[in-house]
Amino acid sequence: MIPYGRQDITNEDIDAVVSVLKSDFLTQGPAIPRFEGEITRYTGAKHAIAVSNGTAALHIACLAFGLGEGDWLWTSPISFVASANCALYCGAKVDFVDIDSATYNMCPKALEEKLLRAEKENRLPKIVVPVHLTGQPCDMKAIKTLADRFGFSIIEDACHAIGAKYNGNPVGACEYSDITVFSFHPVKIVTTAEGGALTTNNDALAEKIRRFSCHGITRDQNALHVKDQGAWYYEQLELGFNYRLTDIQAALGVSQIQRLESYVAARHEIAAQYNRLLADLPLTLPEQSPQSFSAYHLYVIRLKLGALSVSRADVFAALREANIGVNVHYIPIYQQPYFQSLEMEFQQCPNAEAYYREAISIPMYPGISEEDIRFVSAKLKELLI
Ligand SMILES: *Cc1c(COP(=O)(O)O)cnc(C)c1O
Repeated sequence: MIPYGRQDITNEDIDAVVSVLKSDFLTQGPAIPRFEGEITRYTGAKHAIAVSNGTAALHIACLAFGLGEGDWLWTSPISFVASANCALYCGAKVDFVDIDSATYNMCPKALEEKLLRAEKENRLPKIVVPVHLTGQPCDMKAIKTLADRFGFSIIEDACHAIGAKYNGNPVGACEYSDITVFSFHPVKIVTTAEGGALTTNNDALAEKIRRFSCHGITRDQNALHVKDQGAWYYEQLELGFNYRLTDIQAALGVSQIQRLESYVAARHEIAAQYNRLLADLPLTLPEQSPQSFSAYHLYVIRLKLGALSVSRADVFAALREANIGVNVHYIPIYQQPYFQSLEMEFQQCPNAEAYYREAISIPMYPGISEEDIRFVSAKLKELLI
């Protein structure tokens, strides 16, 4: 099976992991600050905090803003469920903003309209989570303008988008947001097996995030209620979690992130080949907005169903039958049985539903062979023409 995405592990990666295994620290050692330093260096953000996965990062990002009962978080319906679950973990309510039909990212116009309605009903969101779907940055400037006008905080879900740029600046710089969240799951751009990170330029948020990732515990002299007790002394200041990354994972991350730019360049080359090979088929190919440089985590094609006699399910099944590991990113979150069981009146999102009916993610990862790219493209041509 040609997978839709996969990791790239080199001998350097293996050596980096093995050297941690032979060292004194498997966790809470020197590889963690080294990895965090690589993330701040790369993104230009003031702070980076490495955590156990992207979902944990979203959870404590919400907690850092005090999200809780009675609060609202809005996100995109076309995302992994974690983008919405983070609100529910905090006891808050979640709702959705429809996507833009060209980029598949949260539509700023739809966001503005929803904010105006919510303002009248006195239920403005505390947090909005734009998701950089497929690695293409959202229209962050427009979303930030709305944040300033309506008073919400922004957490960028950049789980697809490390290595992407917006207006020439790395995603994670938090130029138009409060916090950015990354995932290092093996299908993502760089991997630590499981892993995640948050970046922010806000000192107070960084301190809270760090504490929430480590049981709510601090040893910082300035934060302690009782001072000068001794070197053993620490205090738990709030209810936190063990969301730490291990040094084994961080060492893999340090090694992987050295290749971030070459990975993203390779993904752009693969996208250019698909763009060329699929140009004449009844498909909508990924549109790139001029201010965005995508990390190209995914290459999503949309079937022009009106021009076809086959369904998405038929095409999908035939591709799988041909050993092409296609996938669909994503089912609108509010259609999930769990979300339906909440008996909330979620925003219906027609653009998201239209996208979902047509979308297929085809294989995209550095290291896919030319032959496989041509095979996938030829198979699509055979099925669609
Ligand atoms: C992968 C992903 C997450 C969750 O990250 P994990 O590291 O798997 O917990 C959240 N949001 C999006 C958009 C993702 O793709």
